[in-house]
Amino acid sequence: MPIHINKSVLIATIVSLIFSTFAQAQTASKDISINQKSRPKNIILLIGDGMGLAQMYAALTATQDNLRMTNCPNIALVKTFSDSDYITDSAAAGTAIATGNKTTNGMIGMLPDKTPVTSILKYAENHGLATGLVTTCDITHATPAAFIANVENRKMAQEIALQFLYTDIDVFIGGGYDNFTKRADSLNLIDSLLVRNYQIATTISEMNAINRGKLAALLYPKHPSKMSEGRGDMLPVSTAKALELLSKNENGFFLMVEGSQIDWGGHDNDLDYILNETIDFDKACGIALDFAEKNGETLIIITADHETGGLSLPGGELKSGKPEGKFSTGDHSAIPVPLYAKGPGGDQFDGLIDNTDIFKIMYRLFGFEVIKE
Ligand code: MG
Ligand code: ZN
Repeated sequence: MPIHINKSVLIATIVSLIFSTFAQAQTASKDISINQKSRPKNIILLIGDGMGLAQMYAALTATQDNLRMTNCPNIALVKTFSDSDYITDSAAAGTAIATGNKTTNGMIGMLPDKTPVTSILKYAENHGLATGLVTTCDITHATPAAFIANVENRKMAQEIALQFLYTDIDVFIGGGYDNFTKRADSLNLIDSLLVRNYQIATTISEMNAINRGKLAALLYPKHPSKMSEGRGDMLPVSTAKALELLSKNENGFFLMVEGSQIDWGGHDNDLDYILNETIDFDKACGIALDFAEKNGETLIIITADHETGGLSLPGGELKSGKPEGKFSTGDHSAIPVPLYAKGPGGDQFDGLIDNTDIFKIMYRLFGFEVIKE
């Protein structure tokens, strides 16, 4: 049979080749400010939920100036307002950080008109990187959800659990087992995860026994306990495990780690709760910073989604490690939050930035230019 060359297909192929070369050249010229050496292979984004400057400084005081997160050379301040409100909630703030879009308070991974938007985690996954989420709350809670789900209300926890299965996230560790098993639709999502080759862990020792492959560690039926009620080293140990598994991917990885309960201490106007949770979060930051130091190709970003409690420090003493706190609200506040960065590309974080810039800078540093999905 003679080979039949379809002329119009041939022309279309040549045109698309020329066009894609042109598109690549365009992309390269746009990116001239970031040279190859200053691009990270991996990004670890650590979010202290509700951790404003006062929470950080209170923890610095309580540890007598021994806070790992403060040892980052690049510092910025981040505006946190949402599309709907001067004071954001964690859903809108998480969506801004994860997707680069402001939205209405309460919405996850969607614009105010309910158009779904793609998170940095999903872009990473689509570009062949390994991806992970580690939290000290239910894994379907607003902050981690913003990286994985697209729902109009953060309260849709069972739908958010289901949307984990729409992705190929490699590692997720937190609480919230019940949202995968005790469901209104009577689906057993643990079975679905097993079918997709996830290894399931419900205790830290089960989690620690897993040394390769995909991991879903749902260590509590609902939210993990407070530090003061025995959570122990769950967050730093989980961070280390996630890094061990994700770093096996040769293309690099994106990991988000959340210290979720700093926020809850703020809502409770409970300084001890804030201190315990912030110091625990800082241990996870230390694990990430140590990994990055050895690895050399990892960018660390440490920030918050908003401040909680309107905390001020009208007194205290560094020597004895005793901060004195005063709260001005039981809710979030509008004050900008600190951002610390270290590693390749860290110098891109500078000055007073917007929370949506965090996505934009990560996206640019990863060199993601082709929008897939
Ligand atoms: Mg949160
Ligand atoms: Zn809150």
